[in-house]
Amino acid sequence: MENPDIPAGGGPFSLENFLRDELARIQEAGLLRRLRVLDSPQTTHIVSDGRALVNFSSNDYLGLANHPALKEAARIEWEKAGFGSGASRLVCGTLAAHERLEEMISGFKRAGAALCFSSGYAAAMGTIPALCSSEDVIILDKLCHACLVDAARLSGAQLRVFPHNDVEKLESHLRWARAKHRGSRVLVVAESVYSMDGDVAPLREIVDLKDRHGAWLFLDEAHGVGVLGANGRGLAEATGVEGRIEVQMGTLGKALGTHGAYITGCRLLRDFLVNRSRSFIYSTAPPAPVAAAAARAVEILGGAEGGSLRRSLWKNIRNLGSALGIPEPPSAIIPIIVGAEAAAMAAGGDLLASGFLVPAIRYPTVARGAARLRVTLSASHSDEDVGSLAEVLKPHMAGTPTC
Ligand SMILES: *Cc1c(COP(=O)(O)O)cnc(C)c1O
Repeated sequence: MENPDIPAGGGPFSLENFLRDELARIQEAGLLRRLRVLDSPQTTHIVSDGRALVNFSSNDYLGLANHPALKEAARIEWEKAGFGSGASRLVCGTLAAHERLEEMISGFKRAGAALCFSSGYAAAMGTIPALCSSEDVIILDKLCHACLVDAARLSGAQLRVFPHNDVEKLESHLRWARAKHRGSRVLVVAESVYSMDGDVAPLREIVDLKDRHGAWLFLDEAHGVGVLGANGRGLAEATGVEGRIEVQMGTLGKALGTHGAYITGCRLLRDFLVNRSRSFIYSTAPPAPVAAAAARAVEILGGAEGGSLRRSLWKNIRNLGSALGIPEPPSAIIPIIVGAEAAAMAAGGDLLASGFLVPAIRYPTVARGAARLRVTLSASHSDEDVGSLAEVLKPHMAGTPTC
C-alpha cells in the first residue's frame, strides 16, 4: 500500500538522494575513487586518457597477461569449446579445460588436488565458510585482504585478529581458542605476501604454532606464487613448509596473467569443497578459453621460461631497491609510505604528470594516515623503466625507512 506521507519516488528518502549524499561524504574525506580506462593492452607501457604511461600498478608480475602462448591457448580453446560454460561446474559446466587446469595446478603445486574458482574473492568466500561455522574460531592477521575478512565474517565463527605478523599474539589467540573451545575447529588465516605492504609472513613460525595448537592454516599466496620460491611455488616453497599447510589459495589473475583462482590441498578437501563451497556450487564455471590460457601459464611458470622471467623480475626488484636506497624488497610490491591521504593523492598525481602510473592507496584499503604509493614491478619492465621510476620517486621517499 502506498504511504501518503512519502512522495512518489521516495523524495528525501529516494535512492538517488542517498547515493548523492554518500558520494559527497566520500569526496569530502578525500576518498573518492574513480575508474581509469586503459586504451591499450595491460602491459608495462600503457595509454590512458590519450597519454603514454609506464605502468607500475599491475600485478602481472611476470608479464604473462599478454604472452603470445596464452593468447594462442585461449584461441585454440575457444575455437574448440566456445566461450561460455553454460552452467555451474556441478550442473553441466565442467569442461575438459577445467579438469586439465586443476591437474596442472596440483602438479605444479605438488598438492593432492586443486579446485578452481571464478576469482580469488570467490575462492575465499567459498572455502573459509565451508570449513568453519559458529562453533569455531578463525584467527586472522590484521592486514589480511578484504576477501579473507569477509569470508571469515560470513562463516559466523568467533574471530580473533592478531597485529600484523605478530606471532606472539597469534600464539596467545591459539591458546585462548584451545582453552575456551575444546572441540572446535581453529583456522589461522594469513597471506604469504601482504598486498599493500609487500612484506612476507613469518610462515615457519606460523606453521609451527598452528601445529602445536592443533589448528589449520589457510594461506593466501596471491602475491607469492610465481614470484617466490626456487620454482615459483610461493612462500611455502621458499620456507620449506609446503607439506604442512592444510589449505593454500592462489590467484590466476596476478603472476599467472589470466583470471580466476585456485584452492590446493588434499584430495578430500577438493571433494568436500565441491559439495560445500557455495561460491563454487552456485556460480557459472569460468570460460574454457580462460582455463586453457591459465593452464598454459602454469606450464610456463613451472618450466625454464618461468625461471628466466622470475630472474628478470628479481633483477628489477633489486635494482629499484638499491636505486631508492632501501633494504632489498622481499617481494614485487614496494610501498612508498606517504602518510596523509591528500599527500599520497598529490604524489600519485605528480608521478602521473611525469608519465608513471603508480597508484596512491588510501583508507579503507590501508589504515588512515598510512596512505602510500604502491609500486609493483614486472619482469617486463626494462632497466630504463626502473631507473627512471627511481628518479621520480626519490622526492617522495620521506616516510620510507632507508638503510
Ligand atoms: C587479489 C587478491 C585476492 C583476490 O583475488 P581476485 O582473483 O582478484 O578476486 C585475494 N587475496 C589477495 C591477497 C589478493 O591480493
